[in-house]
Amino acid sequence: MHGRRISILGSTGSIGLNALEVIRKLGRFSGGGFRVWGLAAQRNVPLLKKQVLEFEPRAVVVYEADAAAEMLAWARRRRLRLSVWQGVEGLERLARAPETDFLLSSVVGAVGLLPLLSAVRAGKRIALANKEALIVAGDLLMESARRSGAEIIPVDSEHSAIFQCLQGYAAGRRSQNGESPREIRRLILTASGGAFYRRKGSLDGVSVAEALSHPTWKMGNKITIDSATLTNKGLEAIEAHHLFGVPLEKIGIVIHPQSIIHSLVEFTDGAMLAQLSHPDMRLPIQYALTHPARYPSLVRPLRLEEIQKLEFYPPDFRRFPCLSLALTAGRRGGTWPAVFNGANEAAVRSFLDGRISFGGVPRVIGKVMRAFAAEPGLTRNGMRRPPSLADILAADAWARKKSACLCEKERKTCRS
Ligand code: MG
Repeated sequence: MHGRRISILGSTGSIGLNALEVIRKLGRFSGGGFRVWGLAAQRNVPLLKKQVLEFEPRAVVVYEADAAAEMLAWARRRRLRLSVWQGVEGLERLARAPETDFLLSSVVGAVGLLPLLSAVRAGKRIALANKEALIVAGDLLMESARRSGAEIIPVDSEHSAIFQCLQGYAAGRRSQNGESPREIRRLILTASGGAFYRRKGSLDGVSVAEALSHPTWKMGNKITIDSATLTNKGLEAIEAHHLFGVPLEKIGIVIHPQSIIHSLVEFTDGAMLAQLSHPDMRLPIQYALTHPARYPSLVRPLRLEEIQKLEFYPPDFRRFPCLSLALTAGRRGGTWPAVFNGANEAAVRSFLDGRISFGGVPRVIGKVMRAFAAEPGLTRNGMRRPPSLADILAADAWARKKSACLCEKERKTCRS
C-alpha cells in the first residue's frame, strides 16, 4: 500500500483543476482517497488561495516571486500552518519532500524537468502529465527511475490508454534495459486532428481564437495549439517511446476525429487492444492516481449505440509539418527533442501573443533545427550516448533564444 499524501505541481491549470475534482470525489470512498500535502501554481494566487482553504495543504509553491510574496503575506495574516516556497527551487523542494508520497506533475513545458527529476531521484510514485519534461530528457529520467525505483504513471490520455491495455500483460516482462516485450508489434496513438483537420485551404492566417477551439477536448492553451499544429502527436510518440520502451518506428499515428478510442496496442499475432471512453481527462487522471484499483468516476458512461461510428484516417504530414519535425527530432535522439521542444514552446508563445502567424510556427521550428545542425559548441549526440543534463539544458536555452529571435524576424517580414 503506497502513501496517500499527494502534491500537485500546476494545481491551477486544466489538469490540476480536474485532479482536485477527482480527489474531492475519491474522498467519499474508503481506500481511494488522498490527503493534499502540497500545491504549486505559476502565479494565479486568487485561485490558489481558494484551493488552500478547501484542501488545507501544508506547503505551496508560487513560481513567480511577486505572487509568492503576496501568498506568504496572506498566509501570515490568516495564521495558516503553511510553508510558501517560490521558483524552480520551490518546485523541486515540494517534489522531493518526504511528505510527498505521490506527485502529480502537471506543469506545462520543460520548466517541469528539474522538479520531475528531483521526484524521480527520490524514488517517488509519480503521475505524469508534464510531457515536455519527458520529451527533453526521456533517457535520463527513465534511467534514473530504473535506478531509484520511482514509478512513472502516465496521465496523458493516449499513454494512459496504452498503459491500461498493457495491464496484466507487461508486468515484470520488461527487460533490464527497459525494453518492452517482443510480442508488441506496434503502439497506435490516436489523434483528434485538432482544430484544423477538416479545414480546406491555407492555414497560414488562421486566428488564435480559431486555433484554440478544439473539437473534442477541453485543455489548456499551449496543448490546444500543439494539437492544432499536430506537434502534440509528435511529442506523444516520443513520450510513448520513453514510457513503454518501444522504438519510434513501432509507434503509429492515426487520426480519429471522435476521440473515443484513446490509443491501441497491436500484438505480434495481429490482436489489437484499445481503451474507449468519452474524451474527459478526469478518467486518465483518476486511473493514474488509483492504479491498479478502479473506482466510480465523474465520467459519463459511454453508450456505443449513441456514438454509432468511429473513423480513422492517416495523418497529413504535408499540411502539418510540425508532426514531421517532431518525429525527425525524436529519431535523431540526443538533444534534438530538447531543441524541437524549446523552439516550439517559444514559437507557440509568440503565436498566442499575436506576434507570428500560425504558419510561422513550423517555419520557425524548421529554421531552428537547421541552425542547430550547424551550430558549433553544442552537443547533438544521438542514440548511443544519452546527453547529460547540462547538455540538455544548454540545448533547450539555445533553442528558445534562437526561436524567439526568428519569431522577431518573422514578425518584421509579416508586416512588410
Ligand atoms: Mg494526449
